[in-house]
Amino acid sequence: MRKAFISSAKYVQGENELLNLGFYIKSLGESALVIGNPDDIIRVQDKLDQTAKRFGITLHLADFGGEATREEVVRLKKLAKEKGADVIVGLGGGKAIDTSKTVANGHNLIVCPTIAATDAPTSHSAVLYTKDHHFDEYAYFIKNPSVVLMDTTVIAQAPTRFLVSGMGDALATYYEARATRRSNSNVNAGLPNGFYAGDTEPAKGTIASITLAKVCYETVLESGYNAKIACDHNVVTPALENIIEANTLLSGLGFESGGLAAAHAIYNGLTVLDGPHNYFHGEQVAFTTFVQLILEDAPTKEVEELLDFSLSVGLPVSLADLDVKEVNYEDILKVAEKACIPEESIHAMPFKVTPESVAQAIIAADALGRDYKKRKAVK
Ligand SMILES: [Zn+2]
Repeated sequence: MRKAFISSAKYVQGENELLNLGFYIKSLGESALVIGNPDDIIRVQDKLDQTAKRFGITLHLADFGGEATREEVVRLKKLAKEKGADVIVGLGGGKAIDTSKTVANGHNLIVCPTIAATDAPTSHSAVLYTKDHHFDEYAYFIKNPSVVLMDTTVIAQAPTRFLVSGMGDALATYYEARATRRSNSNVNAGLPNGFYAGDTEPAKGTIASITLAKVCYETVLESGYNAKIACDHNVVTPALENIIEANTLLSGLGFESGGLAAAHAIYNGLTVLDGPHNYFHGEQVAFTTFVQLILEDAPTKEVEELLDFSLSVGLPVSLADLDVKEVNYEDILKVAEKACIPEESIHAMPFKVTPESVAQAIIAADALGRDYKKRKAVK
């Protein structure tokens, strides 16, 4: 059987680690184009100046427009060429990182997240949007980032909601990888460009990816609450470090080489509703992971473990928590239909999934979540 595992070449995290950015740039070239929102650049400007001086490299700051569009990618590619930048640095949140991945196109890329809100930084893919912020396309690159650099001091100073959202995204990883393994489905790591084209045989996940996914889940459960409190007070503790690693490295490698399943497909389906738009990716994924557990009839112990954790850190456990005011079957069926289109990862579940069965799982999870929250509040 063909199996595959991919990852960033290097992952490094530590307090004030951005001071070493110049070292990693130096290992790839002499100068870099830094793509980040002006606000994020300001937050770390002092560290950028220090590292450039210390390692004798040149940083060209790109004035990132804020959206990961094709036009912005073309503009920044041109700028990188004009400046003669050897390296692309993506600094900030998801949009800046996705843009930097597309500009670098698989070569000499250093990703420096300033939040730990999703598991995307280590991956070899990006999501592009239109100018008016609608989904445009997925882009896949020949290689994962050369370096993913997490400055824990910077992340501890970001709003806690980002970190908690990252935990929501990380909670899904094990359950989706487990479903993918049970159904013997293919994983994204199989082909360099993520597409199963031509006569290349797709690949399955490895022992490594399912192991990382499992440890990811256990780490979130073990350290999540303490990490949230640490982040609330902007301090770096071992628990916060554990969660930064779980949200970024463990979840990132776990999903890309372990596979996605129902949780992320139902997340994509939720875009047809209005309420969830106001919530981060990981916040929605926390709920859709719960839906996946209901869909696969997971043991009550697992379901309650997930709900207890979500409630402890303030992740959504129902559609009401995602500002869906009224739940009716027709709307939920639309969500489920979108989640069940043929190319969706939901078909990696180890049984046949239909829009009807998904709609019913969403409705049941929503009701259970509301009831569970009420019962816990009474105690
Ligand atoms: Zn995700």
